[in-house]
Amino acid sequence: GHDIHIIGGGLAGSEAAWQLAQAGYKVRLSEMRGSGEMTPAHQSDRLAELVCSNSFRSDDADSNAVGLLHQEMRTLGSLILAQGDIHKVPAGSALAVDRDGFADGVTAALSAHPNITIVRERVDQLPTEGRTIVATGPLTAPGLADSIGQATGKDSLAFFDAIAPIVHRDSIDMETAWFQSRWNKGSGKDYINCPMSKEQYLAFHAALMAGEKTEFREWENVPYFEGCMPIEVMAERGVDTLRYGPMKGVGLDDPRTGRWPYAVVQLRQDNASGTLWNMVGFQTKLKYAEQVRLFRTIPGLENAEFARLGGLHRNTFLKSPELLDGTLRLKSAPHVRFAGQITGCEGYVESAAIGMLAGRFAAAEIAGQTLAPPPRETALGALLAHITGEAEAETYQPMNVNFGLFPPIEGRTKKADRKRMYTDRARAAMQDWLAA
Ligand code: FAD
Repeated sequence: GHDIHIIGGGLAGSEAAWQLAQAGYKVRLSEMRGSGEMTPAHQSDRLAELVCSNSFRSDDADSNAVGLLHQEMRTLGSLILAQGDIHKVPAGSALAVDRDGFADGVTAALSAHPNITIVRERVDQLPTEGRTIVATGPLTAPGLADSIGQATGKDSLAFFDAIAPIVHRDSIDMETAWFQSRWNKGSGKDYINCPMSKEQYLAFHAALMAGEKTEFREWENVPYFEGCMPIEVMAERGVDTLRYGPMKGVGLDDPRTGRWPYAVVQLRQDNASGTLWNMVGFQTKLKYAEQVRLFRTIPGLENAEFARLGGLHRNTFLKSPELLDGTLRLKSAPHVRFAGQITGCEGYVESAAIGMLAGRFAAAEIAGQTLAPPPRETALGALLAHITGEAEAETYQPMNVNFGLFPPIEGRTKKADRKRMYTDRARAAMQDWLAA
């Protein structure tokens, strides 16, 4: 027998399982990968596999909301952060991880836990009884998605998401490209930079606009999510949009000219050994052959070999502000909690954070107690409040954690001090919550 059934062993389900198991409760964790099933984005049967970027974003807990979220999760004994820290790779002020080492570490920790039974199976029906956490993510298998749709009486929202290509390091021409982080942050040389002159940039922009895109008729009229916009869609917004966005050259000194390049393509280390590098901001729905042809016109990438090309997928999430209560329970069926991206948070860290809270709420409930949600002033509390009621249900969109979700700082403050005021206030609120 088990105390709780968790469906989905991704970022959220893995963290929820860990929290419950550490609290002493027996968990059945169902994961369909490893039973002959796969999602359109995953590539292995590892738990907590990272499907695109290998970055948990900023690790700065003083002036960045996701950095603060990292800190809060570490304080609460997060498995995802602990393994992220163990498998860290250089990425300036960001926390980036070796994706294979990270997912292996999570899988091993959960497999070894005496309170967790991992079952490789696909679940097609929302359980009608028994305490359950659904953490099946943006690529929830269709059968279960239908069952959830019936239980909630809602069409889930769908939008496009796109992933960026990954390049083999030894195929990059380092005579042209160079190692440097923007403004020399971190080690000062965490990124690989491919410079473009004005002529090269304009030609590249024109080629992007003309490039052959994959057509997805069934997804016509589905909006893009701003945080993951394909490079060619951004190019359509104007000739300079990329040059002021992911291709900006500021803070990077081309050793051959001693100057900032007109535009740049940056690559970020993707695995611990540094053999794979991903093209930052280059998510795309260009056809595969077109990607290879076009990206090989980038200076330094003339002979690039791609470990993975970019692609496009669908995303699914609930109208959580309307459907879930303050502790992530489905109002119409409170034995079911939701966690992770399916609740409409966005990002690896946010998904794990909501998994952590779902696990802790459930653990308290099994013990016959109620856990007060973390205060609104904390990153965990701000994100939870957004999902469970603060956000406008009708226009609800997946959301990364950001200071805009926090209660505003009252009074006149210097802009430079404000971030620090948010994070100091959050730490104080977190301490009070932990004490209570
Ligand atoms: P997942 O990690 O996807 O876990 C869900 C798990 O449930 C999977 O293991 C799946 O196999 C399993 N499952 C699904 N249906 C069933 C079923 N019926 N029965 C049993 N098991 C089931 N976030 C970022 O921070 N950075 C990025 O670069 C990024 N890129 C993304 C790219 C893509 C293609 C996608 C889809 C999402 C991306 N995200 C990214 C968003 C988000 O952070 C991730 O999707 C994250 O993995 C969500 O965590 P999760 O636990 O909610 O879902």
